[in-house]
Amino acid sequence: MTEQLIIAGERRDAAEGATFTVTEPATGKPLEEVAKASAVDVDLALAAATKAFDDGRGTWARTNATERGRVLLKVSQLIREREDLLATAEARGAGHPIGDARWEVGAAAGTFEYYAGAANKHFGSVVPVQDAGLDVVLREPVGPVSLIVPWNFPLLIACWKLAPALACGNPVILKPASLTPLTALLLGDILVDAGVPADQVYVLPGPGGIIGDALTADHRTAKISFTGETTTGASILKSSADHIARVSLELGGKSAAIVFADANVQKAAADGPMSVFGNAGQDCCARSRFLVERPVYDEFLEAFEATTRAITIGDPLDAGTEMGPLISTGQRQTSLDYLEIGTSEGARVVSGGDIPDGDGFYLTPAIVADVTNDMRIAREEIFGPVVSVIPFDTEEEAIRISNDSDYGLSGSLWTGNATRAIRVAKSLRTGVLSVNTNRSVRFEAPFGGYKKSGMGRELGMGAMDAYTEVKNVFFSEED
Ligand code: NDP
Repeated sequence: MTEQLIIAGERRDAAEGATFTVTEPATGKPLEEVAKASAVDVDLALAAATKAFDDGRGTWARTNATERGRVLLKVSQLIREREDLLATAEARGAGHPIGDARWEVGAAAGTFEYYAGAANKHFGSVVPVQDAGLDVVLREPVGPVSLIVPWNFPLLIACWKLAPALACGNPVILKPASLTPLTALLLGDILVDAGVPADQVYVLPGPGGIIGDALTADHRTAKISFTGETTTGASILKSSADHIARVSLELGGKSAAIVFADANVQKAAADGPMSVFGNAGQDCCARSRFLVERPVYDEFLEAFEATTRAITIGDPLDAGTEMGPLISTGQRQTSLDYLEIGTSEGARVVSGGDIPDGDGFYLTPAIVADVTNDMRIAREEIFGPVVSVIPFDTEEEAIRISNDSDYGLSGSLWTGNATRAIRVAKSLRTGVLSVNTNRSVRFEAPFGGYKKSGMGRELGMGAMDAYTEVKNVFFSEED
């Protein structure tokens, strides 16, 4: 059985009949055959989505916002009802431990709930202008939106984009990563089953270099929301430049966790490993640099290593698994290459970096100590289970090292000193910061990066701005 793509809410084969094989990371074996969209399918989708937006204003864009919210609430309910299906697909397709996958399904449903509530709470304003009349600011849907998603959190990141885009009244064209298209297709079914009009829903699996490019370069794409590598983001900016598409980009990271000597060092060391090794390190918010104040460096490293060694690595479908495989053999090799680079640069691999016996793309989490911030392992995004531990001596030095990066997505700050927390938080050039904890994303709050980590913000009410145009209308009072 081939998983078909979705055009105008309908499951169908790719126009050219092509398919591709999705591999299960835990076994390295084929998992599903999926329809492979081509530029022909992109054209069909954009033509139908544009028609649905321009002519079909009686449907979604013109549906009152309260009703749109009700439909999104139904989406949220169906996501919860289909938790087993979605979580198993994410565990097998993306290698996420089943407990994490179930949490992600809950967070996906929560995202739809949030934007169900947001739909009728995002509106324009009346401006007190000098001229006699009434100046009204309207918020209108922007048009067909292309939502391009990476493989690391396929379900969750798709929902972060779909929910606000739909809440604002836009047709959605979802392009999942080729490695992980399964939950995107299940989500497409859910949207239609929940009552989103079929002509608003498109899911196109297929090669990014072909269909991603076709989507972003086409003038009918009004808005692009992309999550993925910084280099791909840059190429999307270029391909969409001629038609001045609205673009938001969530890109890579090299986030720092700073541990001061006045912190609860044992807690920082106990919580730290999963902030970088969660999802096998394939997390844009991974704290892949730990900056540790020298007086507690050895104590921290010892406790961090002990916690890391206790991580249960195994079959994603086992309830006790805390860390699954990497997504592909190529992604694993990248981590191994960086371990060699780090060693050749003079850093010290304390533990990990081993390939366990058996099938699948597993790698044990690697701690690299005595790193300096000029080394490549401290500067380049590895996107695997490798952490660099860097000592520092002063607060100023910690801030300088943390900010000395092309990226600025996330980060943590561990200190017991409240005034220091305020001072350092204000000095760090990062889009998201957690103080005395590690979690980065809360769907009620803005998420995104400084510098090469991106442009624009997802989540929170601000995302509603990103999926709407502003129209200013002045009604004259003069006869
Ligand atoms: P990629 O940039 O390779 O791919 C992301 C998506 O873009 C995929 O769907 C891919 O399709 C598609 N794509 C590839 N080439 C093009 C193109 N020319 N035009 C349009 N779309 C294209 O990233 P990865 O999938 O490798 O994801 C990992 C990256 O994502 C990491 O760098 C990570 O930091 C970043 N990321 C950032 C997040 C954030 O919020 N800041 C969150 C999560 C990840 P295909 O799969 O078919 O190649």
